[in-house]
Amino acid sequence: MELNENEALKPPDASGRFGDFGGRFVPETLMPACLELEKAFNEAWADPSFRKQLDDLLADYAGRPSPLTDCPNLSELLGCRILLKREDLNHTGSHKINNVLGQALLAQRMGKTRLVAETGAGQHGVATATAAALLGMECCVYMGEVDVERQKLNVFRMRLLGAEVRTALSGSRTLKDAINEAMRDWVATVEDSHYCLGSVMGPHPYPWMVRTFHEVLGSEARSQCQERLGTTPDVVVACVGGGSNAIGIFSGFADSPADLVGVEPAGGAAVGRGVPGVVHGSRSFLMQDEFGQVLEAESISAGLDYPGVGPEHSFLAASGRARYESVTDTEVVEAFQLLSRLEGIIPALEPAHALAWVSRERASLAGKTVLINLSGRGDKDVDQILELLEKEGRA
Ligand SMILES: *Cc1c(COP(=O)(O)O)cnc(C)c1O
Repeated sequence: MELNENEALKPPDASGRFGDFGGRFVPETLMPACLELEKAFNEAWADPSFRKQLDDLLADYAGRPSPLTDCPNLSELLGCRILLKREDLNHTGSHKINNVLGQALLAQRMGKTRLVAETGAGQHGVATATAAALLGMECCVYMGEVDVERQKLNVFRMRLLGAEVRTALSGSRTLKDAINEAMRDWVATVEDSHYCLGSVMGPHPYPWMVRTFHEVLGSEARSQCQERLGTTPDVVVACVGGGSNAIGIFSGFADSPADLVGVEPAGGAAVGRGVPGVVHGSRSFLMQDEFGQVLEAESISAGLDYPGVGPEHSFLAASGRARYESVTDTEVVEAFQLLSRLEGIIPALEPAHALAWVSRERASLAGKTVLINLSGRGDKDVDQILELLEKEGRA
């Protein structure tokens, strides 16, 4: 692989490839839409007025820059210095707003009046519905029937925000089926609709475009670390579902000597247990059985329940620039409680994966400076943890 250890993340090649991964595996009918989007994104990103419009919204609406927080109590317990990038403090409670505001503004600039999105746990659906409300656009969110039942509150939030929620009844009736149906909607309505994809996956230009919209969090963290530490951290850790919050923070440190660590749920370890395959328009590591059937991911955190991973993570894993580890649900619940109790910050279950890995690896991290991307807040997960602890007689 040509990537050397101290190089910044690069754009993919002209066909959307990151080494052996990525690309644009879509039906003929979707090709023009992908090409139109790629061209529009390139033009918008080169246009200072678009960048200013987005920067203004990120600052005045989403609340950027998010702070960098030192964790004195946790650091003392674990024996390494822990810093958190506080994406939990953004409007709507996670990093997702960065991508969604970027795509919604881009869609508006392309003359589209409607956003289509998929959602699993509902967080990306809520973020998309939020941006649509702000910009006066129509919004239609596809969600698997199983998830609609599991995530009633987020379904209600989306409706409050003016979005239509459509139940995906095909396949396993979860996230991957919602993605298929959202893509089908996009093919049929591309004249006036934009497909607002929620992570660094899908056909080119999505993995690269979504990464670009999240680079803001990495570059903020880089300059905050420079100011606070006078250098870069030794280790940068983030949870990986599709991989957008991780790629955002990695982008700020890829050209530094920092170790980059992505943490997957043990039941959804696309990089750890996957083999390369094509799904949802790009080639990447993927959990599949011996016949190439995509397996269901299973994790305590609905936001990480995706059997695939963005193609750039597969590339970073294959090239050795980043490594990918996994943690169990039990370790995650412990980490969730630990940060709450020691620092007064209730994390979402997704970034609790990153914390859990740091906690488990404390011996090898002794004396180091560790930056963790706190991708979201835990309010949405409190009910689930209460129920779990009650069942175990621990609450
Ligand atoms: C959606 C979500 C994730 C997983 O998505 P990535 O694309 O892997 O970042 C992680 N953390 C939070 C808080 C989320 O809402």
